[in-house]
Amino acid sequence: MQIGICRLCKKEKKLSFEHIPPRVAFNKNTRYYSISHSDFANQSFLDYKPTGRVQQGGLGYYTLCRDCNSFLNNNYVRPFSKWANVGMDINLKYDFQYIEFEANNQNPLRILKQIVSMFICMNDVYFTELYPELLDFTLDVKKTELPDRYKIYHYLNNEGQIRTLGLTFTNMYGAVCELTFPPFGYVLNIDNENELNHLTEITGWRNYEDSRNHSFTIGLYRYPTHIPIPLDFRSKEEIKNAIKKSRY
Ligand SMILES: [Zn+2]
Repeated sequence: MQIGICRLCKKEKKLSFEHIPPRVAFNKNTRYYSISHSDFANQSFLDYKPTGRVQQGGLGYYTLCRDCNSFLNNNYVRPFSKWANVGMDINLKYDFQYIEFEANNQNPLRILKQIVSMFICMNDVYFTELYPELLDFTLDVKKTELPDRYKIYHYLNNEGQIRTLGLTFTNMYGAVCELTFPPFGYVLNIDNENELNHLTEITGWRNYEDSRNHSFTIGLYRYPTHIPIPLDFRSKEEIKNAIKKSRY
């Protein structure tokens, strides 16, 4: 337990360890590692072997009080884990770069709210001071309004590093947050007039009626995430070639 400001109710409370993504979405016994900036500078990151930063018990943060933790558990975690199972299944069964499939018995509105809550939890408290509508959207189960400045994108992932990139201001894409944890990757893009190409936008899931019986067809790209730069989906080969080129 730690004392701090809860990301959802914004009160100073005891914070518990929050698994992001939820434990039931394949984040229970994960051994994961992330690349330190010194490794990145050494360009040894492609062959990175986890040494000092392996963590057991899953990826997560001390960000929520017990009440808010229960709120997410009671409302969003089950629909989200159901969707993660679909993603895992697709990843295991097929080899592809882009795939279209039909998903059944899903609650897209609640999945989307869980995704937004994860972006809130992986950022500092000031994140929702800048972007309060994200908090309103998460805290109200029934709310379907979210201003157009917020766009959420989705992709499949089963290769590379886990990516936990909090708010990053880019010169080309506006503000970006990215979370990658197999089977999925999620991108929150704010104040970008252009669409992100070659990603599937799912902001429209907010318009689904709150029900667990939706069936829909969706197309998703599958990308590797080898280096900790938002929206960088290059293969190892492409990264190696770029490094070679930059040396001459
Ligand atoms: Zn709270």
